[in-house]
Amino acid sequence: MDDLQAELARRRAEGLYRQRRVVGGPQGPALVVDGRELLSFCSNDYLGLAADPRLAEALTDGVRRYGVGSGAAHLVSGHSTAHHALEEELAAFTGRDRALLFSTGYMANLGVIAGLAGRGDTVLEDRLDHASLIDAARLSQARLRRYAHADVAALETQFDRVSGNCLVATDGVFSMDGDIAPLSGLATVSTAHDAWLLVDDAHGLGVLGEGGRGSVQAAGLGQAEVPILMATLGKALGTAGAFVAGSEALIETLIQQARTYIYTTAMPPAVAEATRVALKIVEEEGWRRECLAGLVARFRHEAAGLGLGLMDSSTPIQPVLAGGAERALAWSRSLEDAGILVTAIRPPTVPAGTARLRITFSASHTDAQLDRLLDALSRLPGVD
Ligand SMILES: *Cc1c(COP(=O)(O)O)cnc(C)c1O
Repeated sequence: MDDLQAELARRRAEGLYRQRRVVGGPQGPALVVDGRELLSFCSNDYLGLAADPRLAEALTDGVRRYGVGSGAAHLVSGHSTAHHALEEELAAFTGRDRALLFSTGYMANLGVIAGLAGRGDTVLEDRLDHASLIDAARLSQARLRRYAHADVAALETQFDRVSGNCLVATDGVFSMDGDIAPLSGLATVSTAHDAWLLVDDAHGLGVLGEGGRGSVQAAGLGQAEVPILMATLGKALGTAGAFVAGSEALIETLIQQARTYIYTTAMPPAVAEATRVALKIVEEEGWRRECLAGLVARFRHEAAGLGLGLMDSSTPIQPVLAGGAERALAWSRSLEDAGILVTAIRPPTVPAGTARLRITFSASHTDAQLDRLLDALSRLPGVD
């Protein structure tokens, strides 16, 4: 325990200590945090659906119909008509043969990669891929190689040293940078080298593409070019869980081989019911995406005028580079003093020297709230 204490003290001294905040009410721009109301710019509730009354209503209806727990894994007795209907609707929405629900995105990635690749195979990943994709490759025991961020040519050189089956995995929208992967190029080289391409669209689904169909659809690609699509339900869709969509053969293989699908309890059926309603809203309420695009455009224009270190992102994820972890932390504290919640993202979540504020927008933010954010940013120490 003394060793643990020493390590914790070191983290604290380096500005790397992580702490939770206790949120007292629903998600939304006005968030009650540790008993105090803050204006939040850090959730992944991009469309403002997490606290939507229609989802809450669908959830409670679902609970009345199905009870609370699913009771078992999907392959035992936990796969309800609610799950089944959601899977069919997700397959139709993404234009794929089938979809398979997982309890979380982390588990979906572990299940897919470790289910498809094993010892002797190769997994190629973008250097900035989400931690769950990296951990999935490690769990699979395949050889993991990482290519330079968003660099199709760098990926191509990796194919020289591939052994066994090859799977290429990338975030669709990078979670900490907000930029979009060069999906067409990745698809072309993956197909040319007979490799599977997996796109994790946790931050693209609901936000990008026609009707919110995500980054893959926005790039004009389908199941033929991107055979494995994974996305989460806890971000733009406002509920919880995740899914993988693709061919009949892919989904049947995952049902047989994805251990994080087989050996875990199905999500509560009521969550599936709420997600079905969310999916309809995502498709029908395009104004939410327009509202987001307006906020992002205005933020980028005005933040650039303040001399803030923006990144090359057109999505609702708008990082402001601070550099050192201490500086990012000081900025986050300064915003909090002004009543604004934006968390500091520090190594190892991002590479050393690139600590940042990760600002995210939601369709439920108002222009007046954006004004407050810009005003507080203009007063950060070291920004003129
Ligand atoms: C959030 C996220 C996940 C994990 O999804 P959960 O449902 O939160 O477990 C996976 N990949 C990416 C890119 C994410 O941002």
